[in-house]
Amino acid sequence: MNIAIIGSGLTGSLAAISLAKAGCRVDLYERLSDEELINRDRTYAITHSSRKILENLGIWSNLVPNFVPFQYLNVIDYELNKKFQFLINDLGISDQRYCAVGWIADHKYLMISILEFISQIENINKIPTSVIPNTNNYDLVLAADGSNSNTKKKLKTRSFNFNYDQICITAKVLLRGVNSNEAFEILTSEGPFAVLPLGGDLFQIICSQSIEQGTYNMNLSKSLLLDYFSTILPYGIEPDTIINHPSSYPINFILNYSFFSGKYIYLGETAHKCHPVGGQGLNLCWRDVDCLSKLISISFLKTNYFLIPFVYSLSRLIDVLSITILTDFLVRYSRSNFNLFKFPRFLTFFILKKSAIFRKILLNVMTNGI
Ligand SMILES: Cc1cc2nc3c(=O)[nH]c(=O)nc-3n(C[C@H](O)[C@H](O)[C@H](O)COP(=O)(O)OP(=O)(O)OC[C@H]3O[C@@H](n4cnc5c(N)ncnc54)[C@H](O)[C@@H]3O)c2cc1C
Repeated sequence: MNIAIIGSGLTGSLAAISLAKAGCRVDLYERLSDEELINRDRTYAITHSSRKILENLGIWSNLVPNFVPFQYLNVIDYELNKKFQFLINDLGISDQRYCAVGWIADHKYLMISILEFISQIENINKIPTSVIPNTNNYDLVLAADGSNSNTKKKLKTRSFNFNYDQICITAKVLLRGVNSNEAFEILTSEGPFAVLPLGGDLFQIICSQSIEQGTYNMNLSKSLLLDYFSTILPYGIEPDTIINHPSSYPINFILNYSFFSGKYIYLGETAHKCHPVGGQGLNLCWRDVDCLSKLISISFLKTNYFLIPFVYSLSRLIDVLSITILTDFLVRYSRSNFNLFKFPRFLTFFILKKSAIFRKILLNVMTNGI
């Protein structure tokens, strides 16, 4: 099959590798240079669903030495003053042998490695342009051109979207009093605050806040921002230094009404975008890629390829809907300070702290999708 992919972000690039390995001839269109693609300051939480996808593609063992594994995911609710931990034992049996609840990956390293894999695959042709000259040459066109997708606009595909009244601040911080194998998801009334290990004493802080508070914080000097972080970090954890230039970005929610239009298929953030809480974004995008590759490998669909967009759209519905709704619920849960919600919140925490089965169910959904 001849396939065009628009956009060589982490979704489009992985799709190129996966489909080329499934025997397709792939033209990968990207408007940015490799250098621009690499130089993004982002940090991803990698779940077991992504681990399995990368393993099936035969690239996991090359990537994992540079990922930082964590064995403890601490969830803290400041409103309730309660805490519980997800541990390796809460994973499914087959995931437990990897000795990690998840991994943290730096964008630069990940993008460099993925671009290198692409350069080694013969049937991927990288084309540095933003316009496909003739789409008639392709059996399928995959739009992986991000949340601002021009393809989607051109094809007038509608989506449900809204902006959260929040921005997300990210900073790399040296911390004292915390183990390098622990991650934190702290639920504060301003929004979720994540602390992700990057190796040694270095941690990535991803802090969602109201626009007013976030804008105020972004105008603070590094030392005052550090003081602010210290008011949120759990007792005993002290921030030492911010080692990069903190950045911020607005947070929005996007969910397409359809994941295809004719022979165009929407992948990754072109189809859905959710709140960064829970680190689901990239993993959900890569599960799109995995689903499509599996469909393309089915011989009946290979010969009747015009059915693939529809079957793909249907197959992705439940996973995408449940994860986007779950992350949205978590944000609303974290910010709600109505007394009415205090009891259900307390009950949820109590159950998750005491019941290994509920922790297993929740962690399995978060790490493997549905
Ligand atoms: C500022 C920011 C920070 C983020 N930080 C985090 C984080 O810390 N952790 C996390 O898990 N997720 C983060 N995310 C989300 C994460 O980056 C995405 O989930 C992930 O990159 C997958 O995106 P994608 O490949 O679908 O889209 P993108 O990464 O947006 O890639 C789309 C690609 O398409 C290209 N393109 C667009 N139009 C055209 C065209 N017409 N022709 C050719 N190419 C085109 C673009 O240049 C781009 O390279 C962040 C997102 C943003 C915007």
